[in-house]
Amino acid sequence: MKTRHVVGGLCLLAVPFLAAAAGGAHEHGVARLSLVQEGTTITLGFESPLDSLVGFEHAPRTDAQKQALQKARAALENAATAVTLPAAAACVVSAVTVDMPFGDTAHDGHDDHDTHADAEAEYVFECAQPAALDTVTIGLFQAFPRLQRIDAEAATAAGQGKAVLRPAQATWSLPAAR
Ligand SMILES: [Zn+2]
Repeated sequence: MKTRHVVGGLCLLAVPFLAAAAGGAHEHGVARLSLVQEGTTITLGFESPLDSLVGFEHAPRTDAQKQALQKARAALENAATAVTLPAAAACVVSAVTVDMPFGDTAHDGHDDHDTHADAEAEYVFECAQPAALDTVTIGLFQAFPRLQRIDAEAATAAGQGKAVLRPAQATWSLPAAR
């Protein structure tokens, strides 16, 4: 759970969201996104059921499934297309971490037929002008057509905010500085 990153800045309003997340909400077609600003550092955490990305949640059994996992990993690792930040914020990627289940090896002991699996990605940006960070546009809907909704939560210097992003509404308006 990447939501652990926002715990330090949470207000009470955000607790129901975390309670639901802690309860293991795993809904196919729905992913979660968190954005935390700490000074000039912006960290985005993305967590999705694997089904929403590749259409299955078991260890790959065919070459097509192995390729689907590799393609999904590559799409998540491509921060430039996954997340677009305003040019005025002058952000550069400093780290990308992708955690995909089942790895790249065929037999890693995770072939559980009745369980779910999640994929996670974390993007860390350094932004010279973080005050200009008013929107985030998510490109993951294009990469993953099965993804229908992203529940997003932000904690920035300007405040806290939540949003529901969808393929037709993939730009997230962050809490505005006042
Ligand atoms: Zn599942």
